[in-house]
Amino acid sequence: MPEGRPFYLTTPIFYVNDVPHIGHAYTEVAADVLTRWHRQSGDDTWLLTGTDEHGQKILRTATANGASPKEWTDRLVETAWKPLLETIDIANDDFIRTTDERHERRVKLFIEKLHEAGHIYEAEFEGLYCVGCEEFKPQSEIVEGTGQYAGQKVCAIHGRPLELMQEKNYFFRMSAFQQQLLDLYKERPEFVQPESARNEVVAFVSQGLNDLSISRSSFDWGIPIPWDPSHVLYVWVDALLNYATAIGYGEDDAEFTRRWPAQHIVGKDILRFHAVIWPAMLMAAGLPVPAGVFGHGWLLVGGEKMSKSKLTGIAPNEITDTFGSDAFRYYFMRAISFGQDGSFSWEDLAARYQAELANGFGNLASRVLAMVKRYFDGVVPQPVVDEAAELAIQTTVSAAVLEADAAIERFAIHDALAAVWKIVDALNGYITEQEPWALAKDQARRDRLATVLYTATEGLRALAVLLSPVLTKAAPKLWAALGVEDSLGELSAQPLRSAGEWGQLKPGTAVGELEPLFPRIEAA
Ligand SMILES: [Zn+2]
Repeated sequence: MPEGRPFYLTTPIFYVNDVPHIGHAYTEVAADVLTRWHRQSGDDTWLLTGTDEHGQKILRTATANGASPKEWTDRLVETAWKPLLETIDIANDDFIRTTDERHERRVKLFIEKLHEAGHIYEAEFEGLYCVGCEEFKPQSEIVEGTGQYAGQKVCAIHGRPLELMQEKNYFFRMSAFQQQLLDLYKERPEFVQPESARNEVVAFVSQGLNDLSISRSSFDWGIPIPWDPSHVLYVWVDALLNYATAIGYGEDDAEFTRRWPAQHIVGKDILRFHAVIWPAMLMAAGLPVPAGVFGHGWLLVGGEKMSKSKLTGIAPNEITDTFGSDAFRYYFMRAISFGQDGSFSWEDLAARYQAELANGFGNLASRVLAMVKRYFDGVVPQPVVDEAAELAIQTTVSAAVLEADAAIERFAIHDALAAVWKIVDALNGYITEQEPWALAKDQARRDRLATVLYTATEGLRALAVLLSPVLTKAAPKLWAALGVEDSLGELSAQPLRSAGEWGQLKPGTAVGELEPLFPRIEAA
């Protein structure tokens, strides 16, 4: 077991009926970069993702497709969601499905505990019901009728009048946790991030909380309420519990204690569920609240939020088929400030691919290795005297590591990449200024050439380590070409936080062939 501090990160679980688009992939990549950084830094790291599979809408689409709900969700998990993780190279430690037996068993344990402790009660629920939808409609789906239904409330989907109906429901006494939640936000300002999201949550809870209806009895595709199986658990309560059930809640105390609490990464549209309902549920169960909830922004294409219903929905493999998964990961992490909305454009992606990945980083690596081959028979030379230019590179590298690590701590992945890129820029400038090709023409300057190429190669060593959480394909290729596997071991075992310690690359190491890192993209 790694001796580092625990770092347990979760993504939202995918709503299985959705079609994977770059918005889902964006969340996954961010979580993956954060956890790869922590994992490679020696922290006791765990990345959880998975799928949300219960509820009436899934039951309906399954039926419409002539399948049982389980057959339907099995099919979607295997053909859509697990392949998405491969497309963008996600190294998750676990994949939980809300239809997993382990999840259902542990959810029941949790709900029973809340029930026994008096946090759940039974009451009549009154609401506007649509016969077409067979459900109580939320405010967002109720509109004013027109024409023959003018003056009545109608269903936004069916356009027909709604009926006022009553149903017996189980309620979670969430209102009782208002003050505890407000105290939490006050005592731990970093609990909800970014600050704009925190302010919204505080304002929402300050208005007072209603109790939460947590059961449904009009359909049966869900986890039965243990003491009343005529009801199934509300899908959001079921879904939120995945973060606890996946690490053994109620059954594997050692694993649960080792991992919990989690840091959650969510889209800002579901932040309220994670920052209000979920901590209230945990408080009721006597468990620690999450380490934090970070709400990232939306991806905008042509100014509109990415979603499956819009023509702007882009499948991740449309990007990776052309540019590769490294470019996908790099682009979204670099171009968008994590936590804010950001715009995607093909032009920007293509421009950054060419300027930053191909010309900035890829070209640097291939030029330096080619010169080591040409001038030193492919063997990393022994540096002789470090002058001011070399010391400046060493300082840039060690400062970049500290800056990047601090940025990762505050989930500012874009800042971490910008910090690492200072090394790329510094090395490119260094090569231009030192002109090793000119030094090579003068045998008297052989020592100087050795120092310059050692410095450039050692800089690449640091870059391979620092970029490995993002460029999961290019960084190992560079590592292999640097020949360091033999002397330093696997790239994945390189402690990230000490990547800035100078001189790790051993003179005398034989470099190998560098596979093209970022091939030229032919215009479609
Ligand atoms: Zn309806």
